[in-house]
Amino acid sequence: MYSLCLLLLLILPIHAWGPLGHSAIAAIAQKHLSPATQSHIAALLTQGHDTDLASIANWADEVRAAASGRGPLKDDPEAAAFNAKFPTNALWHFVDLPLGTEDYRKVAAFTPVNDVVHAIKRCVAVLEMAEPRPDDFTKPQALRLLVHFAGDIHQPLHCGTGFYDLSDLGHPVLVTDPRLCIGKPNDRGGNDLFFGPDSTQELHALWDDALVFAIRNSSDYRSLADFLESIPPVGSTTGDYHTWPERWAIDSVQEARKAYRNIKFDAATIDGQHLRITVQLPTAYIDENRSLAATQLAKAGMHLAQLLNNLAWH
Ligand SMILES: [Zn+2]
Repeated sequence: MYSLCLLLLLILPIHAWGPLGHSAIAAIAQKHLSPATQSHIAALLTQGHDTDLASIANWADEVRAAASGRGPLKDDPEAAAFNAKFPTNALWHFVDLPLGTEDYRKVAAFTPVNDVVHAIKRCVAVLEMAEPRPDDFTKPQALRLLVHFAGDIHQPLHCGTGFYDLSDLGHPVLVTDPRLCIGKPNDRGGNDLFFGPDSTQELHALWDDALVFAIRNSSDYRSLADFLESIPPVGSTTGDYHTWPERWAIDSVQEARKAYRNIKFDAATIDGQHLRITVQLPTAYIDENRSLAATQLAKAGMHLAQLLNNLAWH
């Protein structure tokens, strides 16, 4: 299994919770919408010429790819206009929090206004507004972004990140206490941690694609969604739904600690601004972490439905 998955890593493209994960999350959410929410969403889907939540789940990644002339939206006028209007939208997919973060509100040094928590709150605000401001996104765009970012925020490595003491490049030391992480380099959610020579053999891509594929050994998002609904249910987030993104991010950081467990950090190189750390993963890494990935995907789908059902739709 392990070598099969490593082989797959060589051929799978790099995404953020790849299309398989995002579509499955959206398909789960779609099945748990209240009748009132369904009608609000149906109106926005029609307005945006979209069909269902799965059909919009990857729009944010495709818009980001279009900014560098790649992907299905590279010639799409709406994507081009969106990228021109929001040139920093690539930052909205993640937040780089130290692995020891316990409270999102207490780590201001790591929570820029362009992070995924702020992005989700902005989507909610637009959907709850009578009329979005001309300088903001449209309501159909806000729905597309929300469906995607609710997925990203549950990907542990989109919220938890390794920071390092690199005073000896031959011996990188993981630092988790937020107070000790200020000013230290980080691995960008595992994007700079390489467990093999190939450029796709990095920890973030492993979580985005290979672990998701390994749950069912299939690329069919509908069967993945059906399977994820069969695993033990996840609890609802409680309290004011406007604060849920902060709590989801912290929950993801806690899961990210498990994703970093028993990784051996061999050596670091810094080429200009670019960090690269070679690591050794524990031998059963995929088998031990795919159930964690499955739980996070299931949580994302249910949490997204709960948020959509709570919105004060306007
Ligand atoms: Zn993303």
